[in-house]
Amino acid sequence: MDQAMHQEKDCLFCRIARGEIPCKKVFEDEEIFAFHDINPAAPVHFLIVPKTHLVNLYDADLDQAPLLGKLFGVAGRLAREQGCDDGFRAVVNNGRVGRQEVYHLHIHVMGGPQPLRSGR
Ligand code: AMP
Ligand code: ZN
Repeated sequence: MDQAMHQEKDCLFCRIARGEIPCKKVFEDEEIFAFHDINPAAPVHFLIVPKTHLVNLYDADLDQAPLLGKLFGVAGRLAREQGCDDGFRAVVNNGRVGRQEVYHLHIHVMGGPQPLRSGR
């Protein structure tokens, strides 16, 4: 793991990325980790997270643009591999008003065979 990578000891998604908590892994490289949502809101529903602990987009800065771009850049390929044959929804909840529950930045990728209902 990169020296500059910052992780939080007790953060749920840091722990998942470290392999301390089991998950259904979708993808991993040196900077990002993707795994199925434990409470899926769509036939395909997985989360893409940075391995380094970023809280959300509200707290992010331009410095993090390459990593943020990478999270979105891999979404389409992973969605297709997971069975999203005709598009998907990507959602990022940020802070209290955004109803964020886990304060480690994550992109929800949701799809499946049918168009999704509005909302989440
Ligand atoms: P958010 O409201 O955007 O913070 O969503 C957090 C998401 O994390 C929810 O969709 C949860 O179902 C999901 N989640 C919580 N715990 C786990 C876990 N242990 N493994 C996978 N997904 C989880
Ligand atoms: Zn974290």
